[in-house]
Amino acid sequence: MTRKYVRFESLGHPDGCYGIIEDNLVRPISGPVWLGGDFVTQVEPLESVGLLAPVEPSKIVCIGLNYHAHVEASHSADNAPERPLVFLKPPSSIIGPGQRIVHPEESERVDYEAELGVVIGKTARNVAAENADEYIFGFTCVNDVTARDLQKKDGQWSRAKGFDTFCPVGPWIVPELDYRDVLVEGVHNGVVKQSGRTSLMIFDIPYLISYISRIMTLNPGDLISTGTPAGIAPMKSGDTIDVRVKGIGTLENKMA
Ligand code: MG
Repeated sequence: MTRKYVRFESLGHPDGCYGIIEDNLVRPISGPVWLGGDFVTQVEPLESVGLLAPVEPSKIVCIGLNYHAHVEASHSADNAPERPLVFLKPPSSIIGPGQRIVHPEESERVDYEAELGVVIGKTARNVAAENADEYIFGFTCVNDVTARDLQKKDGQWSRAKGFDTFCPVGPWIVPELDYRDVLVEGVHNGVVKQSGRTSLMIFDIPYLISYISRIMTLNPGDLISTGTPAGIAPMKSGDTIDVRVKGIGTLENKMA
């Protein structure tokens, strides 16, 4: 069974702690595994801890318009990018599984975007695509929440994508995944609205790691969100949005 790497908070670890899930237990780790964290002996029952976002990245690098069907739905077919469209979300936008997404007053439309997240395992700079796998620690689910009206209004995406709570991540990291062809789904109030396989990405994950690493150094624990399939839609207060990636699990959040 593939390992599940988490961060959690509990009575014994009120400030959060890295860990690994084993059956119904959480085994704490002295730090993130990608920075040499090691297992400690005492374990806690899974039901007694609260799961947090499983990473604390120095940056979240996102890719826009990376599935043909999404490009065609939201723009026009001849708008497919010639190179990856790279943007950043601030680490302060991260929330964990079960935490609430907050609708900012200045926006009239906040959308979900179900995405596969890649967690970097070691410092990556000028990496060749054929070596990219060596730099991956694992995979998680990401919701690239977007204030769609502000994205259009600003042109630049930092505000529309950067509000606090706009980057749900989790529920854990799995180190092994057939990332070249995995199903990514966005489930809105229990109904599957987004469904796309990573084999339909315009730029695949090794290409993205190589491309990004020639712009900026990727640090261990950094997160790449690889773009969303077609089917994005707005959320209202009280809505539930699940990002489901086959082989990882389900990241569930509600809109406050
Ligand atoms: Mg996105």
